[in-house]
Amino acid sequence: MKIKSVEVGPIGTNCYIVINENNGQGVVVDPGGSANRIVEVLQREKVEVKGIFLTHGHMDHIGALAEIKELTQAPIYISKADEPMLANPESNLAAFMGTELHCPPADKNYGQGDEIELAGMKFKILATPGHTPGGVCIVCENAVFCGDTVFCESIGRTDFPGGSYSQIIESIKNKILVLPQETTLYPGHGPSTSVDWEKRRNPFLQ
Ligand SMILES: [Zn+2]
Repeated sequence: MKIKSVEVGPIGTNCYIVINENNGQGVVVDPGGSANRIVEVLQREKVEVKGIFLTHGHMDHIGALAEIKELTQAPIYISKADEPMLANPESNLAAFMGTELHCPPADKNYGQGDEIELAGMKFKILATPGHTPGGVCIVCENAVFCGDTVFCESIGRTDFPGGSYSQIIESIKNKILVLPQETTLYPGHGPSTSVDWEKRRNPFLQ
């Protein structure tokens, strides 16, 4: 597995491209904006995209969804609880950021414990509500794509509609910190980190 990180959109969202080097297939996690930059990496790496995974429904994670769907025709996955956000400018924060956003609908829903085989790779879904009601983290081998649930030494905001501080702390403690120490965390913003590092250094989790 090879992971390419692309910083996209106006507030530096991490879009991840997860590639199976054995067959050239891959998935895109959170195409949040700057479609041209994502496409450039897909073309350079010659990735055949088999799925588009969304960690949650906020605008800065779905901003280039329409373009990437159009280009790849790959199925879009999001949790049931966050799915309505794709078409709701209030809950996906587009209205809040003063813009419009037109997203294609989801093809599939995923949730806690689901195991999805795509592009010859296995992905496990962890429901991690708190930043949004339907936020998920996506596990692949020893990597976790965390969206805005946990960041390097920080956590996601809980003051947007549907957010909950107690839920996000519970999600991180019960779903993320229980993973093997050396698991690498790939957050929706900022640098990657590890379970071990966050256990010891994240001020919100002490
Ligand atoms: Zn968010």
